[in-house]
Amino acid sequence: MMFVYLNGEYIPEENARISTNDRGFLFSDGIYEVIRSYDGTLFEPSAHLARLGYGARALRLTETGFDYLPEVASELIRRNGLESGDATVYIQVTRGSAPRTHRFPPKDTPLTVYVTVRRFNPHDSEQQQGIAAILVPDQRWARCDVKSTALLPNVLANQQAVDAGAFEALFVREGMLMEGTHSNVFVVVKGEVITPPLTNYILGGITRGVILELCHKLRIPHRETTLLSSDIPEMEEIMIVGTTVEVTPVRKILNVNFQNRDPGPLTRRLQSAFRERVRQGTAGIRV
Ligand code: PLP
Repeated sequence: MMFVYLNGEYIPEENARISTNDRGFLFSDGIYEVIRSYDGTLFEPSAHLARLGYGARALRLTETGFDYLPEVASELIRRNGLESGDATVYIQVTRGSAPRTHRFPPKDTPLTVYVTVRRFNPHDSEQQQGIAAILVPDQRWARCDVKSTALLPNVLANQQAVDAGAFEALFVREGMLMEGTHSNVFVVVKGEVITPPLTNYILGGITRGVILELCHKLRIPHRETTLLSSDIPEMEEIMIVGTTVEVTPVRKILNVNFQNRDPGPLTRRLQSAFRERVRQGTAGIRV
């Protein structure tokens, strides 16, 4: 039996109920976070909480501070016996439950806050060998910087990738390579690591931030600048980064001329630096 957290209570998952009037269900009127737990220690919890707060302000939720949630996550990790090994924590926050109407419900409507933890099987072979990706047109809204639960374009694009035998779909907006359905993208051009700049068209990934920090620390030349999908054939390395994929090389992109590329030296270097960072970030601090 798994324990979950719902609106202030730790309860068995099978007893968790939300209203059919929940605005998350009716309108996707909510935000979420995914935090990785390594041997019971949360990775970069403050950054994830800050992003949740940013999303809550963007949605004008009545509550925007969620400082208590790392403790909730740790308690769930303990209660579910996930103190060793890998796990993911999902936090879902919606504008709460109220009779259907587009406008915001009364101010005293409590938000719905739901937290779950699960065992996570790391994508080891993908990280070793690299993955296949496809390019898809970016049909998402213009606030991709908000980690909204409205993920329909991501779901459709990811399924399109799976149907094509690929692992991830990379969004292209007006000729620019933006990010994946659940990852940010980094490439190497002439020995320089490049990722698209933070705009309203991509999510400010926590892993993205860590990778930029590692590039800085390791004195790897790096830059945040626009990437053109037409330049992909000339790119030396491509990788996707994120909470679940960590640092995963892209071996090929099925619908462009980027085929059978062995994971490159900078990808490998960033992978091991990331591993080391996880070890440091989790050493000695336990739930
Ligand atoms: N971009 C999108 C669209 C995502 O959904 C995610 C993660 O779920 C990321 C990027 C990577 O973000 P993070 O490193 O915070 O997991």
